[in-house]
Amino acid sequence: MSCDLRDRVRQEQPTTERYTLADLEKWEEAAYDIDPSIRLAVFGDPVAHSLSPQMQNAALRASKIDMQYARFHIRANELRSALRFLRDLDFIGINLTVPHKIAAFTQVDETDESASRAGAINTIRVRDKKLIGSNTDGEGFLRAVRSEFSVDVRDLRVMLIGAGGGTGHAIAWQCALENCERLVLVNRTYEKAQALAEHLRPYFAGPRVLGPATRLEAVALEESALRIQLADIDLIVNATPLGMNPSDPSPIPARLLAPHHMIFDCVYGPSKTSLLRGADEAGARGANGLSMLLHQGALSFSIWFDREAPIEAMRNALAV
Ligand code: NAP
Repeated sequence: MSCDLRDRVRQEQPTTERYTLADLEKWEEAAYDIDPSIRLAVFGDPVAHSLSPQMQNAALRASKIDMQYARFHIRANELRSALRFLRDLDFIGINLTVPHKIAAFTQVDETDESASRAGAINTIRVRDKKLIGSNTDGEGFLRAVRSEFSVDVRDLRVMLIGAGGGTGHAIAWQCALENCERLVLVNRTYEKAQALAEHLRPYFAGPRVLGPATRLEAVALEESALRIQLADIDLIVNATPLGMNPSDPSPIPARLLAPHHMIFDCVYGPSKTSLLRGADEAGARGANGLSMLLHQGALSFSIWFDREAPIEAMRNALAV
């Protein structure tokens, strides 16, 4: 990072800055004059959109913890090196976002139950040069659905699109643990949804009250297959990255949405995603991923600092 850039970092909001693997390689040089020092981060590609820095920095300020959280643009093929550097640096921990959650699972030293279940990691804490992986996405999703729609996942028939990704895995496991009424796993690569369904099957063995539809299914991301399922679905979840770019298509055609659906898009951004515009057109209720960001972030904060997160400060920082 150039001196100019370093000065800007010091004087302006450091959270708007983006670091790279090259900075991590010579971190002492790149970060020597940053005050307070950067000891938390999010790794992702893309990462510029991430609101985690503004939310976590608000939490640090509110808790009077003298350190900062920054964003790092780390590509898929750079993750292993980035995690190796992290072991030897004075970091408290990091978050992982797209596309690293599944890849990181095999690259940390230990995982807790939430991560082992999902086979995916969104939170790492660094202890004695060891990386310990956790996953707060599932619980964050649960809390977000409760706050957005005033319902509990356990009472819902859920369609999860993007079941093959890191976030999809965490949400699917959470739905299974909650023993939701019904879970339909949808993925572009059908085989991944099918494999996940096999793992989750024991959780859906018992009968529930809402009619004869099969409680757990894996289906391909195809209109005809989705159409058949949607009459028996309450909550549709997008856990694909579709929507991160304003020009992205919706993962599900708007013509398939109906007023009885609740639509939760894990994607968040300044403009409405195509999926949420479709929800409006259909007269359905929709919510973006900001509240999930808030809740998964609060849980990550608790993992790093072993104390409750200042959730109101975090909420205010996101204006949720
Ligand atoms: P990921 O691991 O890369 O997962 C990608 C998933 O999306 C896979 O199932 C993949 O299917 C599917 N997919 C990718 N591109 C697709 C396309 N063009 N059409 C259809 N399906 C596609 O990503 P992730 O880390 O789980 O993140 C997924 C999204 O959730 C990101 O937008 C992320 O920002 C968001 N997220 C938000 C929060 C929050 O707090 N709001 C938390 C976590 C994640 P295949 O298996 O076929 O490749």
